[in-house]
Amino acid sequence: MSTSTDSPTAAAQHPTPYAMAIAGEQVEARSGRRFTTTDPFSGTNWASLPDGDESDVDAAVSAARAALSGPWSTLSGASRAALMRRLADLIARDAEHLALLETRDTGKLLREMSGQLTALPQWFHYFAGLADKLEGSAVPGDKPNFFAYTRREPVGVVGAITPWNSPLLLLTWKLAPALAAGCTFVVKPSEHAPISTIAFAALVEEAGFPPGVFNVVTGDGPATGQALVAHPDVDKIAFTGSTPTGMSVAKAAAGHLARVTLELGGKSAQLVFPDADLDAAANGVIAGVFAASGQTCMAGSRLLVHRSVHDELVAKVVARAETIALGDPTDPATEMGPIANAPQYTKVTDMLTTALGDGAIAATGGGPDPELGGFFVRPTVLTGLTPATEIACEEVFGPVLAVLPFETEEEAIALANDTRYGLAGSVWTKDIHRGHRVAHALKAGTVWINAYRTVGPDVPFGGQKQSGLGRENGIDAVHAYTETKSVWVELSGGTRDPFTLG
Ligand code: NAD
Repeated sequence: MSTSTDSPTAAAQHPTPYAMAIAGEQVEARSGRRFTTTDPFSGTNWASLPDGDESDVDAAVSAARAALSGPWSTLSGASRAALMRRLADLIARDAEHLALLETRDTGKLLREMSGQLTALPQWFHYFAGLADKLEGSAVPGDKPNFFAYTRREPVGVVGAITPWNSPLLLLTWKLAPALAAGCTFVVKPSEHAPISTIAFAALVEEAGFPPGVFNVVTGDGPATGQALVAHPDVDKIAFTGSTPTGMSVAKAAAGHLARVTLELGGKSAQLVFPDADLDAAANGVIAGVFAASGQTCMAGSRLLVHRSVHDELVAKVVARAETIALGDPTDPATEMGPIANAPQYTKVTDMLTTALGDGAIAATGGGPDPELGGFFVRPTVLTGLTPATEIACEEVFGPVLAVLPFETEEEAIALANDTRYGLAGSVWTKDIHRGHRVAHALKAGTVWINAYRTVGPDVPFGGQKQSGLGRENGIDAVHAYTETKSVWVELSGGTRDPFTLG
């Protein structure tokens, strides 16, 4: 595998070739087919990689199944932790390189991806700390002749499917607890941003994990992911992506009762009360919806603001939005890059056209950036909406803020909860009672008070309602990669009536 990140011009002529990683080997698709990924800033097809199908998925799952009963299964939790810490060190060593690969594939800011990749080792250290603490428990029980205890065993082969917006961060949220639990792993990264995951596989190998513990299958389109979800030898599916895809993943996984964790879409609300620090709130709103060009699951894409401060806050947000520097994502001065790929650009611009046609008012932005062209969309603030307007209730996954005013706390909570999503939200107020009260009332997996967009390995993250199933991060995340086994021990040594349950 090449580790070169060639200049865009060179890449345009010769996409850098990459291979899949199965059973510790770099392999081509059995069909021999390849596809390319596009740098959304330069528009070049900069990398090419195997277009895996069912047979490649089968090879990867078989490798993971074999690894489950190989040397990996004999390692103690402490030994797994040692490997994970070595991997963490290698990620730290190569963070800048991995970040550049992600920027190439996604157009996201190099400084944001550098931040994510530099933070990634924390997840491996955190879950390494849990690898040797996967305790079962002794159960007191009420049967004098029995002693029962539980064991936590690895769930088995994990099939992971990741989206394009933060490929390695969202892979890590699954992989770190899975390794801690002793599982083996097959990941199918997004066809729009697969390269960093392939480069990551080389680090797993360098760290010394046995072959087959971590495998990567790439493919162009849904078929490869579908084959992974449908594979009867996959014990658990860990999926991050859109809500419609998550629903079809859950249905397919049910066909063989694979365990499922789903991290899906959102339409998260930022609630701003009249007593809030409006400068801080405006900054949080900008961070919530314009960072990463709004392409984050937790984007705070709805601003619910008390009518008495509506105009003042909107003016502050618009003023800052209009100074956002759009441009080359590798330039440290750039604040917003392009939309990550052609289908997503079309989705964002179509939704904007519909909203404006339906009477939405663009306080700023409203469509493509005429100067930069390409996949650039201007930071957009929309007013004049009703709660039922499509753009006020459906995920855009782009730099589009929908603003709605409210009069009372009850109305603000009702508006915030009036959505099929429940991923995140925030409350901006100086009233400590209101802050907690509203945080408790919001139907969302994460609520920030006077902040936005902070996550960590030790704090659970996931969605309520149609934003997901289960939680990633935090101590419990590792339990999602285990099965509990109960063991009963007969103590008396005698025989029992075979026809009674006792
Ligand atoms: P997507 O649902 O289109 O694709 C996600 C992944 O699923 C890709 O790897 C894709 O190839 C694969 N896939 C597509 N169809 C499939 C099928 N039928 N069976 C199996 N796999 C299939 O999502 P996306 O456009 O890559 O990512 C954006 C979405 O992800 C947004 O909705 C965003 O909110 C969500 N997301 C959620 C979180 C979270 O933690 N909740 C984090 C990041 C992104």
